[in-house]
Amino acid sequence: MNRFVRFLRRQLDIDLELLRQARHDEETGKATAQPNAGVLTAIRGFRECELKTRLLTIHQHCGAGSGPCDTLEDTYPREDERGCPTKAFLGLPYTDRPGYQPRWRP
Ligand SMILES: [Zn+2]
Repeated sequence: MNRFVRFLRRQLDIDLELLRQARHDEETGKATAQPNAGVLTAIRGFRECELKTRLLTIHQHCGAGSGPCDTLEDTYPREDERGCPTKAFLGLPYTDRPGYQPRWRP
């Protein structure tokens, strides 16, 4: 697992922890936002994390010769940590997080 993929997986872990905290706050009445809006945001957030995790798993070997994008010849050069455009796109929501490298932008 290269630095870019480790970064993406860490961001998903952070998102999940923030969502768990938001759900806990909602359930214990500590949330400050509208109750239903908070639940909807958490549900959407968990689904988006699942989507990103599944895409990352499917594309984990792209650029190394054995991913679906290698079959389609839609990968970055082997020295590029992103592997394929799909993985690069998965990094877009996290461009403002510490550790994101400008060269990772799609
Ligand atoms: Zn791919």
